[in-house]
Amino acid sequence: MANQKMNGKQKRLRRKRYVYSFGGGQADGEASLNWLLGGKGANLAEMAGLGLPVPPGMTLTTEVCSHYYTYGHTYPPELSQQVRTGLRRIEKIIGRRFGSATNPLLLSIRSGGRVSMPGMMDTVLNLGLNDKAVQGLIKQSGNPRFAYDCYRRFVQMYGDVVLGLKPESKADHDPFEQIIEKKKAAKGIELDTQLTAEDLHDLVTAFKNLIQERLGLPFPDDPHDQLWGAIGAVFGSWNNARAVTYRKIENIPAEWGTAVTIQTMVFGNLGESCATGVAFTRDLSTGEKELNGDFLINAQGEDVVAGTRNPQQITLSASRQRAQREGLSEEERKERYPSLEEQLPDCFEQLQAVAHTLESHYDDAQDIEFTAENGQLWMLQTRTAKRTAAAAVQIAVDMVYEGRIDEDSAILRVAPAQLDQLLHPILDPDAPKDPIARGLPASPGAVSGEVVFSAEDAEAAATAGRQVILVRIETSPEDINGMHAAEGILTVRGGASSHAALVSRGMGKCAVVGCEALEIDYAQQVFRVRGQDDVIRFGDFITLDGSTGEVFRGEVPTSASKIESPAFKALMTWADRTRRLRVRANADSPHDAQVARAFGAEGIGLCRTEHMFFEGDRIDAVREMILADDTAGRVRALEKIVPMQRSDFVGILRIMAGLPVTIRLFDPPLHEFLPQTDQDLEDLAKKLNVSVERLRTKRNVLYELNPMLGHRGCRLGITFPEIYEAQVQAIMEAACELSREGVEVQPEIMVPLVGHKRELEILRERIARVCAEVISAQGATPQYTIGTMIEVPRAALRADHIAEVADFFSFGTNDLTQMTLGLSRDDSGRFLPEYVAQGIFPQDPFATLDQDGVGQLIELAVKKGRAIREGLKIGICGEHGGDPASIEFFHGIGLDYVSCSPYRVPIARLAAAHAVLKEQAAQKAQQAQKVKAQRPSRKKSTSTPSVAPGP
Ligand code: ADP
Ligand code: MG
Ligand code: MG
Repeated sequence: MANQKMNGKQKRLRRKRYVYSFGGGQADGEASLNWLLGGKGANLAEMAGLGLPVPPGMTLTTEVCSHYYTYGHTYPPELSQQVRTGLRRIEKIIGRRFGSATNPLLLSIRSGGRVSMPGMMDTVLNLGLNDKAVQGLIKQSGNPRFAYDCYRRFVQMYGDVVLGLKPESKADHDPFEQIIEKKKAAKGIELDTQLTAEDLHDLVTAFKNLIQERLGLPFPDDPHDQLWGAIGAVFGSWNNARAVTYRKIENIPAEWGTAVTIQTMVFGNLGESCATGVAFTRDLSTGEKELNGDFLINAQGEDVVAGTRNPQQITLSASRQRAQREGLSEEERKERYPSLEEQLPDCFEQLQAVAHTLESHYDDAQDIEFTAENGQLWMLQTRTAKRTAAAAVQIAVDMVYEGRIDEDSAILRVAPAQLDQLLHPILDPDAPKDPIARGLPASPGAVSGEVVFSAEDAEAAATAGRQVILVRIETSPEDINGMHAAEGILTVRGGASSHAALVSRGMGKCAVVGCEALEIDYAQQVFRVRGQDDVIRFGDFITLDGSTGEVFRGEVPTSASKIESPAFKALMTWADRTRRLRVRANADSPHDAQVARAFGAEGIGLCRTEHMFFEGDRIDAVREMILADDTAGRVRALEKIVPMQRSDFVGILRIMAGLPVTIRLFDPPLHEFLPQTDQDLEDLAKKLNVSVERLRTKRNVLYELNPMLGHRGCRLGITFPEIYEAQVQAIMEAACELSREGVEVQPEIMVPLVGHKRELEILRERIARVCAEVISAQGATPQYTIGTMIEVPRAALRADHIAEVADFFSFGTNDLTQMTLGLSRDDSGRFLPEYVAQGIFPQDPFATLDQDGVGQLIELAVKKGRAIREGLKIGICGEHGGDPASIEFFHGIGLDYVSCSPYRVPIARLAAAHAVLKEQAAQKAQQAQKVKAQRPSRKKSTSTPSVAPGP
């Protein structure tokens, strides 16, 4: 209200506010100001505003941080006065004086960015102590040991954080810890808690001497110097190496900066009725609604996480569970680690009440830091708790049932990519792990198995009932059976859309690819990791984590997938109700189709027919076809293949009854089907009864310098008509057979690699002719359509013309990306990571669609295609069909469906729902903007967004 009365001039004159106070039942700030006060400061203010017990304090804004870095580590001129005022306010609330020799106020100086960066930045506790103030603290507490414990902690922390004596690496010793160890050794004691007040006093002196020695400067005794030193150190810690690395990984902009919170110390180290701890309002691993966490009696700060003392459980039930795990009797448990519930029942009750208040207020699970001082509970932090995917789903759904949030919010609370964790087994989070190498996380899941180096060995071992991991420099279509037999795939080369990655994802098989540090010796059947001495041999166990790309030696325990949980099903039902995009799967076999349907696929968007050519003995017939010198020879070989393909199609179409199935005609270059090694050539020559020479010549004839741009796709169809004719015959015979049985089939015959309308025109005519022939011969009338992939850039540019002869489009974004960017998806692994690191590509364009480039082509093709054929059915079947960011884009440009590997179908379903909800939110915001713009404008100088319009 005061705001409203202020005129423009006064406003400009009013000094900028850099300090926000909280505590004593009141707060200047609130949670929504987290961009200004940091998450910690904003939520402390919010809690204080709610009337929760928060030690009074103040927060210096992130704008001070910006100023600090913009103007050579200086502060805005107004700051010191505002801090002084804030300090006076704290002193008044708490009834102590900063630096007082009789009744001192001690402070904690804390960092806090907009989003939490746990442990990345610095904190200083017990600030304000010197030789005089410590006497005051003794008087105040009547506890000299406590007072010197605080003093010792303060000098040590200040020395570490502000004066820079913190060891650089784990290998270095903390000089202060060394002094403590020496003291304990001299006294013949083991625990810090056994040090007396006098010992601690000695330590303070020794610490100060060390600082003087190392820095040539005395330890600052003036509390105000201490305060400004600590403020500078916290702002400085925004740019320490740890924080910079963390921001890079988490994509946090450097400009955001940190806030600094200055807060009254409360003491968990004041005796046996004091404690400090961390609590979670729900179980963050399962999502179960149960308060839990850890605490320590008579402790301070990071003691709980530091691992020097073994923390105790907050609830009795958790304490008992732990005792059971450790085989302890009830007496032993009570003796060694009683729960907070038993030891400080009053505090436990207060904590329960606070947890309840916070959940009701934030409507989400919270991660809380607290301290109990002589039975009084104080809240030191609250934030939205990080959780596993299983917990995210459970908590979101429970909160709907509890009436806290609506279904839309629940959908938005689960990140689609997170679901990956649920659909595959994961590494046991508690198991000790030590990765030996890291590659690209190509296909999620976690598996252990014996190392094998060839597809044949993988098959043999699997037949013998052993679990294996296929380790290859790279994989090729020939390895398909071995890949199927293996539990996991590990390759040295290749990127996110390499053969190994693609096939593994399709199979839902864990894979780590592009693990460049591996040196495989096929001859010796071993591999090494560059820079390490260890050798891993055939038959040794390794473990892969396909979600992180890590490779481990030996067997790391795993835990099972969570897809059957009722919460998961509920969430997916809501997502399905919300989304507009249909979701199909890429599936090449009846087995994959089955998996896809179980995951909720609404059809098949890509059935690759060439995979069918590798199964069992078929490859021989295929090779015979390739080796044939003339059409007649090819037709003869194809006649053997047709019945086999027909039975595959019958299987797939039957499983997908009532749903569309897009079948892509033969796509890869023929040479991929010929044997590569001389030994293989000889074997095949014997089998087919032809000379090795002839085989070799044929292989040389088929050799292409650039096969991905060579004789493949519809180009084979144009030049060897009999191949597509045979395939179409198999498809239509399968369709007719099922149709006669009364099964509803919807085959969509798709021609790959079309760039010119004329290509599709020629092929369409032939396909339609074969269909008509089969239909008339079989006397059934299944529905079918003929369409094309759009994967050659020219096809996108000429989509209006191509639409004249296509019933549908399906974007093959793998090839379209490869050809638009001129970037080989098989060879770019060598430099692509560098390109991403240097920001040339924001991400791997084979994993997340390049919207500005490839996306433009897609958008154009959609417009052109639908301009000619209204309602033209359009989908996408590249890897991007399972990528949440890309799905949002596909939703936005009006595609009908996305198609992805079966194991990504739930992710795509959820992502498609997110796309709708985000679009609605954006529309609402736009609407609001419009309404605002239409309002009669008020006097320019007085309008601020927070001022309500006058009457
Ligand atoms: P981080 O961001 O690394 O968690 P915090 O600012 O939360 O750093 O501080 C670390 C710990 O220091 C807290 O968990 C708490 O135990 C202790 N601490 C911070 N402020 C206070 C305070 N005012 N009184 C008592 N202990 C505090
Ligand atoms: Mg904290
Ligand atoms: Mg392609």
